[in-house]
Amino acid sequence: MSDQRLRTHSAVTPFVLDIRSLGRRAGSMAQVHRTVSVDRSIGLDLIAIPSDSDIDLDLRLEAVAEGVLVTGTVSGDTAGQCARCLEPLGGTVNVFLTELFAYPDSVTDQTTDADDIHRISDDQLDLEQAVIDAVGLDLPMVPLCRDDCRGLCPDCGVRLDNADPEHHHEKIDPRWAALQDLVTDGDPATDGDAAATDTGPDTSR
Ligand SMILES: [Zn+2]
Ligand SMILES: [Zn+2]
Repeated sequence: MSDQRLRTHSAVTPFVLDIRSLGRRAGSMAQVHRTVSVDRSIGLDLIAIPSDSDIDLDLRLEAVAEGVLVTGTVSGDTAGQCARCLEPLGGTVNVFLTELFAYPDSVTDQTTDADDIHRISDDQLDLEQAVIDAVGLDLPMVPLCRDDCRGLCPDCGVRLDNADPEHHHEKIDPRWAALQDLVTDGDPATDGDAAATDTGPDTSR
């Protein structure tokens, strides 16, 4: 079992690894540690590793009968926003990767779909899709600044966690509003009538 340092190849994309020095002898291993950055964000709409930020790959490559097994961690800082209150969010993602990359002439190559099992081509394997998938699965679909974030006021848009705990808007049901108009309109007349009938008889008798 040899454990050799894999030479960093001037790759097409930073996620492409050259495996020529690994060889095909089963059990042959290599460590890859590299920091890459890509010109697009990796993750989800609301939270992702932003473009041009560092992504750390700390991987072990192992030659197996059918191809090269890649295991290790992918990590990076994330940026995003709270799904409820839109407050900016920072964080880190640290995912464990286990991916088999099949040799072009292997049984796996002939019996599986390229969408299910990655392929090695020209002695290179491209980790990009595996990294995108792993990071995407690890990040929350609904990122929150805190679990009980109260979100935004539906009426004025203020962030409720920053607002007075009593923050609310006086709202009257339109049907009650109509009744209230009637009451206000009717009040002076009713009072006047009542006063007249109440006082009238007392003073005359
Ligand atoms: Zn929030
Ligand atoms: Zn409000």
